[in-house]
Amino acid sequence: MCIFCDIIDHKIPSSVVYEDEKVLAILDISQVTRGHTLVMPKKHVRNIIEADEESVLACVSAAKKLAGQIVTNCKASGVNVLTNCGESAGQSVDHLHFHIIPRYDENDCVDIKFNESPKQDLDEVLKTIKG
Ligand code: AMP
Ligand code: ZN
Repeated sequence: MCIFCDIIDHKIPSSVVYEDEKVLAILDISQVTRGHTLVMPKKHVRNIIEADEESVLACVSAAKKLAGQIVTNCKASGVNVLTNCGESAGQSVDHLHFHIIPRYDENDCVDIKFNESPKQDLDEVLKTIKG
């Protein structure tokens, strides 16, 4: 049981922004900012790490076009394009999706910022990542 699969199968209504054979884009029901859109593959995959490359590329390609269209037509000044992967990253629906969040000004209800954090040894971090 997946709410986005139900939306893709038209069992649950949604506001469709864009659709093709691989991808569906709908308005996020919560509209963090005006025009907030979700781009998802029609195939059920849980997240960007587990997804096949074809599903990811189809979403990113659609997200690239829609980000430009949304910024222009909503008269936004910027946009965040992001995907949450895993509970700790804020993923609440386990079906891959990319958020397109048009940005208007500092007071637009979105606060994505990188706080200062303890210094890391970059060589050690590199070693860890490369395994
Ligand atoms: P995330 O927290 O990254 O998994 O994002 C899930 C998003 O799905 C949230 O921003 C929700 O507002 C949105 N959402 C949940 N149910 C629906 C729905 N029925 N139609 C449109 N968006 C939804
Ligand atoms: Zn699904």
